Amino acid sequence: MMSTPVALAYLAASVLFIVGIRLISSPKSARRGNLIAAAGMLAAFIATLPLLHGPGGGAVPGMNWLLIAAGIGVGLGLGAYGAYSVKMTAMPQMVALFNGLGGGAAALVAAMEFRHAEGRVLFATAMVFAGIIGAVSFSGSVIAFLKLEGKLEKPVTYPAQQIVNAALLLCIGALGAFLALSSHGIGLFVVLGALALVLGVLMVLPIGGADMPVVISLLNSFTGLAVAADGFAISNVAMIIAGTLVGSSGTLLTLFMCKAMNRPVTNVLFGAFGKTVANGEATQCVLGTVKPIQADEAGLVLSVAQQVVIVPGYGLAVAQAQHVIRELADELVRRGVEVSYAIHPVAGRMPGHMNVLLAEANVPYEQLVEMEAINPQMERADVCLVIGANDVVNPAAHEDPSSPIHGMPIIEAEKARTVIVLKRSMGKGFAGIENYLFYRDNCRMLFGDAKASLQALVAAVKAA
Ligand code: NDP
Repeated sequence: MMSTPVALAYLAASVLFIVGIRLISSPKSARRGNLIAAAGMLAAFIATLPLLHGPGGGAVPGMNWLLIAAGIGVGLGLGAYGAYSVKMTAMPQMVALFNGLGGGAAALVAAMEFRHAEGRVLFATAMVFAGIIGAVSFSGSVIAFLKLEGKLEKPVTYPAQQIVNAALLLCIGALGAFLALSSHGIGLFVVLGALALVLGVLMVLPIGGADMPVVISLLNSFTGLAVAADGFAISNVAMIIAGTLVGSSGTLLTLFMCKAMNRPVTNVLFGAFGKTVANGEATQCVLGTVKPIQADEAGLVLSVAQQVVIVPGYGLAVAQAQHVIRELADELVRRGVEVSYAIHPVAGRMPGHMNVLLAEANVPYEQLVEMEAINPQMERADVCLVIGANDVVNPAAHEDPSSPIHGMPIIEAEKARTVIVLKRSMGKGFAGIENYLFYRDNCRMLFGDAKASLQALVAAVKAA
């Protein structure tokens, strides 16, 4: 039975989680939101310690403080090292790894608790559910991590893949139902967990590496549900609330990302977008010629503009050019130019990627404009500066029904009077297709690493 102080601490932790998530929805308050949610986690963690004592005040059987302290020490050390050392571009794989560990832990808790499930069908069902989902999330996240790290570059496909997966899912369902009803046999529960681990691997293997952020978000919601089921079985309110929050927010995030890419979730999971499009087919328009521009000429164009819209993309993150872009924008603002940043919801490789990147360089929040708000203004822009963005400004999304990105909402950069695109080559973006924008009459290409090009632009604008 939970004491009142513990219950109150859990309630406080849950409120902190919810407030934290609410604040994370705006770049202005996201940092505070993160700290508040972390405080909630600390409160939940401290409140759990008294529960490690049995009803009589003695320790729970088998409890070993030394082992717990060692676990906390290792966890804290690895977590802090990971958070401090991770590069911004490697953030998705870190999230994958942490999420996988959460799923694995939920599955282990389920296995331990299942031993006490005899004769309690509901309890056993919750444990079977948590065991399956947690194990799928663990192994799927590990594969997602390896793909994002570039260790498993090619999607693995083989004949009848979906049938094999469906058959495995059916076996897991049948064994799970048997275990839930008979509620005994830890050996069989381990077999169930092993099958679920295999399913997680087989599910994620065929999906293209670039779709991993969506997959991670989905697996994240799985982990949340597994934790909530654990919490239900061991009557831990904090786990139920935190798990449900993670489950629902992960599901919503998955749906939002798919909507922003105009693809159903099933297409991500079974269609392998990153795989089928990688060849870069589907160029229906007559592309025309590419017109390069040098930095000094581009600087001149910028210096006489009245309104400049900057479209950041994945290449900005790769080049780590967020500080130089701020320097350029500051210089333009000093000259009386109106500058705004157009933020596409799936620019970069993770949700909010551009917001995080620009916040790192202290770009004023009021200069960030969402896609829906900037598009109607684009015709008034003298210059649209596209920096390391590709798919999110590709007019093929509107113009070419055969394009894999057809229907995806884009930032309508082509409507600006002049478009200047900063990228290293004619290399393709995530979708692996030609960008019609680059061949438009009003578009000029400034080739080179985004950071070096921006530094040259700053110098050119200052000299103009
Ligand atoms: P893209 O991946 O379409 O294009 C990025 C471009 O950046 C490339 O064409 C590359 O061209 C250029 N680039 C790379 N490195 C540099 C560098 N150092 N300097 C200059 N340019 C560089 O990026 P977008 O942001 O436009 O689009 C994101 C894509 O990712 C969308 O298709 C989206 O659906 C997808 N996606 C996004 C997710 C998210 O949550 N944000 C999740 C999953 C997928 P070059 O090699 O010629 O330099």
